[in-house]
Amino acid sequence: MNRDIKAVRWFIKTQLLKDPFNPGYATFKVTSRCNLRCTFCNPSYYNGELGEGSTETIKKIIDNLRDSPVVVLSFEGGEPTTRKDILELLQYAHDGSFYVMLTTNGYRLNDDDFLSKLADKIDFLHYSIDEYHWNVKSLDTLCKFRQYGLKVNVQTVATRYNLHKLEDKVKKVRECNYKILVLPAVDYPDSKVKLAPDPNELYNVLSELKKKYTSTLNNSWGFIRALKGEFPNRLVSYAISIYPNGDLPYPDDMNGEIVGNLSQEKLNDILKKPKVKELQRKMLENQAKFEYLHLQTASFNSVRDLAEYVNEMVKWRFLGRA
Ligand code: SF4
Repeated sequence: MNRDIKAVRWFIKTQLLKDPFNPGYATFKVTSRCNLRCTFCNPSYYNGELGEGSTETIKKIIDNLRDSPVVVLSFEGGEPTTRKDILELLQYAHDGSFYVMLTTNGYRLNDDDFLSKLADKIDFLHYSIDEYHWNVKSLDTLCKFRQYGLKVNVQTVATRYNLHKLEDKVKKVRECNYKILVLPAVDYPDSKVKLAPDPNELYNVLSELKKKYTSTLNNSWGFIRALKGEFPNRLVSYAISIYPNGDLPYPDDMNGEIVGNLSQEKLNDILKKPKVKELQRKMLENQAKFEYLHLQTASFNSVRDLAEYVNEMVKWRFLGRA
């Protein structure tokens, strides 16, 4: 189904008909291998534990998502560019059914041939740049991606130790007319090092930055307010994660259970299963447990926040200006 028709249907279902369970965004972990070992990362995302689907498996998963409500398909990992077939897979997904994103730590972004082939296979490049990816220097040469026609959204992880460096990063991204999304580090229960920033401090920093660099900072006001616990009065689930073999942990990969496999079943069929309905009921009963999910979808909890976010992204997509 055409992605713009999907987007309109998603809007009607979630915003007008108030369906809390309609995934519009999919984080597709196409590999669990990575060239890095970031402190805040869940080891199963880089040590190969979750495996790596074959080219055919990944294509089947993409096919089983085409008629689903998923509008934005984000290729992630691990490091997705460690896959030799990544360009082929991106091309396969980029047929008008999805807005396609590639999230990378920059592993292949020095490869001129790779970059010149990438632009017509994705809509946005998500480039993770911060102290924990050891690549902050890349911000100094970020504007070079314009020559390849790539629209770059920098993702940067905010921890309790680097909040004071955020403004410099935002300024450098603004120079290139790109965007930046700040994601707070999450401390997993067994994390040895605690990095998550104090939510109030992060709120103060982000709200100041949002006032000064409104269109460059991609975090919406809904997201920023959610840091202070100003969650909407109901929990919604608009994003899913998909493992490299097609397994679908639901409602998310932190608290979820595997409810199906997308290499064998369509997402629309999985979402109708009694198990999924039971997990949705439990989610609504235990809303407080799902702080991460609240934050993940906080930009889409009110028509106003959504309109602000979509307006920025549409302007960026068609005019190339942040
Ligand atoms: S680059 Fe991403 S996937 Fe790799 S270790 Fe770091 S956070 Fe994890």
